[in-house]
Amino acid sequence: MSTCGTEPSSNEARAEVDADLLRGWDHAHLWHPFTPLADWYATDPLIIASGDGIYLYDIEGNRYLDAVSSLWCNVHGHRHPTIDAAIRDQLDRVAHSTLLGASHAPSIALARRLVELAPPGLTRVFFSDDGATAVEVALKMAFQYWRQKANPEPQRTRFLALSGAYHGDTIGDVSLGGVARFHALFEPLLFATLRAPAPHCYRCPLGLARPDCRTACLDEVERLLAAHRGEVAAVVVEPLVQGAAGMIVHPDGYLKGLRTLCDRYDTLLIADEVAVGFGRTGTMFACEQEQVTPDFLCLAKGITGGYLPLAATLTTERVHAEFVGDAAAGRTFCHGHTYGGNPLGAAAALASLRVFDEEKTLQSLPVKCARLAARLEEFRGLPHVGDVRSRGLIGAVELVEDVVLKRPFPTSMQFGAKICAAARKRGVLMRSLGDVLVFMPPMSIPGNALDELIDAVLASLYECSSEQTGATTN
Ligand SMILES: *Cc1c(COP(=O)(O)O)cnc(C)c1O
Repeated sequence: MSTCGTEPSSNEARAEVDADLLRGWDHAHLWHPFTPLADWYATDPLIIASGDGIYLYDIEGNRYLDAVSSLWCNVHGHRHPTIDAAIRDQLDRVAHSTLLGASHAPSIALARRLVELAPPGLTRVFFSDDGATAVEVALKMAFQYWRQKANPEPQRTRFLALSGAYHGDTIGDVSLGGVARFHALFEPLLFATLRAPAPHCYRCPLGLARPDCRTACLDEVERLLAAHRGEVAAVVVEPLVQGAAGMIVHPDGYLKGLRTLCDRYDTLLIADEVAVGFGRTGTMFACEQEQVTPDFLCLAKGITGGYLPLAATLTTERVHAEFVGDAAAGRTFCHGHTYGGNPLGAAAALASLRVFDEEKTLQSLPVKCARLAARLEEFRGLPHVGDVRSRGLIGAVELVEDVVLKRPFPTSMQFGAKICAAARKRGVLMRSLGDVLVFMPPMSIPGNALDELIDAVLASLYECSSEQTGATTN
């Protein structure tokens, strides 16, 4: 590595020179996603050098518990020997070849395995490379399906999504999106989406409470489907947990209710399991928990165990059949991504699924999920804790300025970010969603490390709340 002509006298000195260079180049050239840049440039960037199991190490050798699973995707820990070996083995064959007009064993085998694991009826697999593309593919397939099915219904051009929805950052996905902070600016570029209220029980948009509400939010979906009868191409949902909206845990029966409504109004259901798929909610796929088969199942993030970019959109024979025709028939799905079904990614995904079997990952989850849920209860009643919620190995603590009124802190306070910074000093790497603290460690996390995580965040919350109280009384 070039050190600009300086010749460090020892390895230690070289590491230091390189660290400063890297920090400088980061600030000079690297534009980070979803990152307030002035804040970023005002602090030294954390530069990760390596990982091992649930831990990451920075270039100074400091250790961090990876409590965000490297953005909700790591499953079995970093540098898992089985996945590492599978990628190396594939690398000895070929790193990439296309699925446009050719095939390869890793994608074939992975398609087969996904169909075996997915809810029954999902038998066709289209590969792409990210969660955003997995959903975009489902949108375009659904749209095209209505145009070329027998008895076409070309007036079905609209999509129904939930408030707070997050389905990725391409323009199609942003059109579905319901997070104002991310999506409002792009409004002039977007197609109009029908918007139903999210089943967010802590802040019920209908002002009701469980269980007396009888999931009245589903009636709102029905009202929209009835008002736009024959116009809706698909209903799009993040099953069980709405991630980016703040880990909103849906009430039992909501997903099943959506499926029933889609059937009643003869429209399609797109399940975006990009965040919740691959064990995250306690079962391989979230849809299983309500015995729902969606018309499209979108998978990414955890599909490769969190190793490589790969995504899949699964659909049914019913949908697929309408796309079968020769070149002249004009039924082709004219969509694809250069690296869709990349063999290294597919090999990693197959290995990750093997690890699920070998390490009995799903069987190990109930105990961990119960421990996470139980320990999260320790947050309830603490100053500024508005809500505590969890589903599977997803935990969330929503912090508010006024617990009684559920009034959020002003954004300028950056309270959630402050707690994450305090947790980092305690060796825990986490990223909040605004003032919602998110607990999403790799599923390989042992129980004692779950305790380590909760203890560090509790201590960080105490530290920041007392500073907070000090600040307001001054
Ligand atoms: C992260 C996410 C996406 C987008 O996935 P990318 O791989 O970041 O494009 C889509 N849907 C949901 C529910 C997500 O959490």
